[in-house]
Amino acid sequence: MKKKVILMSIDGMRPDGFLTCGNPYAEEMMKNAYYTLNGQTVFPSKTLPCHMSLFHSVTPQRHGITTNVYQPMARPLNGLFEQLHLFKRICAMYYGWGEIRDVATPATVTYGECINARRSADRIESSDTALTDSAIARLRSQAPDFVFLYQVETDEKGGHDFGWMTEEYKARISTALDNVRRVVQEFGDEYTVIVTADHGGHDRMHGTDLPEDMTIPMFYMGPDFPKGVRFEGGSILDIAPTIAKIMEIEPADEWEGTPVI
Ligand SMILES: [Zn+2]
Repeated sequence: MKKKVILMSIDGMRPDGFLTCGNPYAEEMMKNAYYTLNGQTVFPSKTLPCHMSLFHSVTPQRHGITTNVYQPMARPLNGLFEQLHLFKRICAMYYGWGEIRDVATPATVTYGECINARRSADRIESSDTALTDSAIARLRSQAPDFVFLYQVETDEKGGHDFGWMTEEYKARISTALDNVRRVVQEFGDEYTVIVTADHGGHDRMHGTDLPEDMTIPMFYMGPDFPKGVRFEGGSILDIAPTIAKIMEIEPADEWEGTPVI
């Protein structure tokens, strides 16, 4: 049977924010995962550059996207979505910030939805939770091979609006972890679930090379990984090669990261 993966990115989630957010599921995640609390993202520690690196397993210096405005790559390379499409895997993507769409070329995404966190704020309490509902409905009905679920409110409505490590920021992390719990409880047997962040943050910003911005947690939960084992370090560039290995597809030649298994 083909192995399947759900990747959940929680924007701007610092490891110490994860540990102190007060959600009891944090403890349970650490018991179930092969995980790091001092992984490293890439510089500049901004959302689109970091997600481009997550999916293309090269640094911003190589893919060329160094701001939150997408531009076509000077030297294009396949990312995870393109490789999955090449090997006939069905992909889906759920996201709360439109610019994230550019991590995948459109033809590689079969199902998906964008619920803009800011523009939907007067209608729905949490775009993160609404997107999780949408992804869960699709997982139930079509069971895509790969699902990317991107939760932005930790960053936008937590870090930027109130400040990193404030109670408001931690409350957004707690909501995001409730969404992780719902996904793992229903689909954790069929899917490997990977949870990460694109970057951290400090004060009401991120983007620098400070450790607060550059350090991210990463959790791998599935049959290929030991449970309750913490490893040191690790790079955001390792996530795409790890998913390729789990799903038994070839990585792109240009990828620079290393599978963690
Ligand atoms: Zn971000």
